[in-house]
Amino acid sequence: MRFSVSLMLGGAALALGGCAATAPAAPQVTTPPALTQAQIASQVGEAATPESPPAGQQWLFGSAEGSITMRQTWDSIASYTEAAARNRPVFSVVLEPGASASDARRVPCGDRPPAAVFDADETLLWNLGAMRQFALRNQSFDPALWLAWERTGAGHAVATPGAIEAFNRMRAAGVTVIVNTNRTQGNAEGTIATLRAAGLGDFVHGQSLYLMGDAPDGTGKDGRRAMISARYCVVALVGDQLGDIADTFNERGLTVTARRQRAESPAFASLWNHGWFVLPNPVYGPSIRGSFDDVFPPESRWEPPVTQP
Ligand SMILES: [Mg+2]
Repeated sequence: MRFSVSLMLGGAALALGGCAATAPAAPQVTTPPALTQAQIASQVGEAATPESPPAGQQWLFGSAEGSITMRQTWDSIASYTEAAARNRPVFSVVLEPGASASDARRVPCGDRPPAAVFDADETLLWNLGAMRQFALRNQSFDPALWLAWERTGAGHAVATPGAIEAFNRMRAAGVTVIVNTNRTQGNAEGTIATLRAAGLGDFVHGQSLYLMGDAPDGTGKDGRRAMISARYCVVALVGDQLGDIADTFNERGLTVTARRQRAESPAFASLWNHGWFVLPNPVYGPSIRGSFDDVFPPESRWEPPVTQP
């Protein structure tokens, strides 16, 4: 306290000195602002407690920032898709089998009608009922609980902010909306009911809804994208994980850095926000991994100055 008072007095003396006609401008005396815990929390967020959901859930499902980010992206998706439907592109945004970052061949459209393809979970749907249960149980995932959720969750999930408005615009532009999800074949009815209850419309398995098991590549989605491409010119691919765009991003053994570099490679760079769209998901998925070395490059290693006593 004595230290602060002397600084304040010193500052006052310097400021008074600065009023004299012959004195140079007084230097600013800076002192660390004394912030209350409430002021700090307003800037950096509140620390998670056992009574609160995890930070990622707070951000995505609860915050204004999460909601607005979704709405911004959905508006871009709808605008791009409306324009693509008018312009009738020569090539789909689905990669050809065997395509890579050095050879990003895409499927020709021919005269097939336009479609847009969407992942379901944390893309079209926020699975609030299941996510709440995982948080209450301090689990990141529980396969048995998830399967029960697929069957019975209708009415307890919501459409992501902006999705319904974007669907209305795309459907009005003559674009067929198709869902390609890793929900299971056996729970098709539950998924159809969940999408309908969320206000996203009616979907038919094998026509506008593709599920894990519809193609032989398991959780991979390229097989189902090929099935959809046989009937449609896919003008937009949308998901919260890069596997919703192309399976090359989920190649086994790909490091965090290599995966990011592959996504940002010149061959793919022009497709992001122009046919390929990713929505935020800080809650779960292949984006949630990485060591200190993966996340912070060597040049970022900073140590705070040693403070003087
Ligand atoms: Mg998803």
